[in-house]
Amino acid sequence: MQCQDEIRKKIDYIRISPLKKISGEGGIRTPGTSQFNGFQDRRNRPLCHLSRILRMQRYDFSLLFQNCTYFCPLIMDFTANLLGWFRKNRRDLPWKETKDPYKIWLSEIILQQTRVEQGYSYYLRFIDQYPTVEALAAAPLDEVLKLWQGLGYYSRARNLHATAQTVVQRHHGRFPTSSSCLLSLKGIGEYTAAAIASFAFDEPAPALDGNGYRILTRVFGIHTPIDSSEGKKMLRKLAQELISQRYPADFNQALMDFGSLVCVPKSPKCAECPLNEGCYACRTGKVAELPVKGRKPEIRTRYFHYFIVREKQYVYLHQRSDNDIWKGLYEFPLIETGTEIPPEKIPAQAVWKTLFSGGKVQIIHFSPLIKHQLTHQTLWTRFYLVESGTISQNLRRHYLRVPLTDFDRYSIPRLIDAFLEKNAGKFGFIPK
Ligand code: SF4
Repeated sequence: MQCQDEIRKKIDYIRISPLKKISGEGGIRTPGTSQFNGFQDRRNRPLCHLSRILRMQRYDFSLLFQNCTYFCPLIMDFTANLLGWFRKNRRDLPWKETKDPYKIWLSEIILQQTRVEQGYSYYLRFIDQYPTVEALAAAPLDEVLKLWQGLGYYSRARNLHATAQTVVQRHHGRFPTSSSCLLSLKGIGEYTAAAIASFAFDEPAPALDGNGYRILTRVFGIHTPIDSSEGKKMLRKLAQELISQRYPADFNQALMDFGSLVCVPKSPKCAECPLNEGCYACRTGKVAELPVKGRKPEIRTRYFHYFIVREKQYVYLHQRSDNDIWKGLYEFPLIETGTEIPPEKIPAQAVWKTLFSGGKVQIIHFSPLIKHQLTHQTLWTRFYLVESGTISQNLRRHYLRVPLTDFDRYSIPRLIDAFLEKNAGKFGFIPK
């Protein structure tokens, strides 16, 4: 505490730059031998004593010196302030009350790309149906995908199932206890490995997701793009410096909660933020500019035409198997086109002829064009109700003939599920 008081007394706000830049900015003209002498206070007084203080605190801030625009004395308080906020604001969620790595892993996979409010009920359903990693490993993949339906990013569910089997077969049902070993499991990246290792085994491994990146770039004025490998590496090193050795789980959870409740992407609550005194973005009016992101990935546009082929009380389904979206899920016979094709021109398409050749089919009606947005793809989709007198060989050979009464047992993409929720009756299904 004495160190921090000393800093507060002598320094109001410190700007630092790598030494080579300082002279150009009219700062310190005769930097000393140590790079720490590059500090200056608001009256341009060199702050050599800060190096002693920093060394006493055992921080290695060389990384910050190279990359941060601003450095503020409250850096010493960052962890304490964050943990202080967390203790007053922690949310009671079932996976936070446990040290069971299986439950923690499950919650972390469900919460990737998913809001807590949405993921909560899925977590409870999974724990109810598969209370142990052995139960999950023994379940058929189709059943797991069905339980996952509606959460999106189905590769997570496939990896979940594969990893459960690996843990049972190779690790005798016990999760590895270190973040480096956890990384060898399918679907577990740096963030998830650190989260499991800190929450279940108290390893001081920083778990940085979008929330953590946002907070650190804003507080420390880091302008390196967070989606670049350089930015990620730098922020991980910084978080490694900051993480509480005594309460690593609380620190990681605090970063996540603080980022989703206070330092939110748009309109963060700076006025009530316990870090605002030392936050670069808040003090310099650059909240909207941080974090910096690199080039946006291109969005691919696709046109899907789904045919609900009714044959008495049956429909036809197909399991997606290509390395594409929704692998393993079921869908109606599909024609994909590169551009929008009006419904009356669909029967003239070569793929239509392949799909239905030899059969007698008639389009009864079709839906308007529906937009479905995925992270990197925009899907424009139309559903057609098709009545068939005779079924083509192609459909018979390559598609599943499913009784309408069994349709709910198949895992389908959210796009189809949402469409049927509203239009089941009109397209030959019994409304849910
Ligand atoms: S002051 Fe504002 S921008 Fe800075 S950490 Fe707090 S909420 Fe985020």
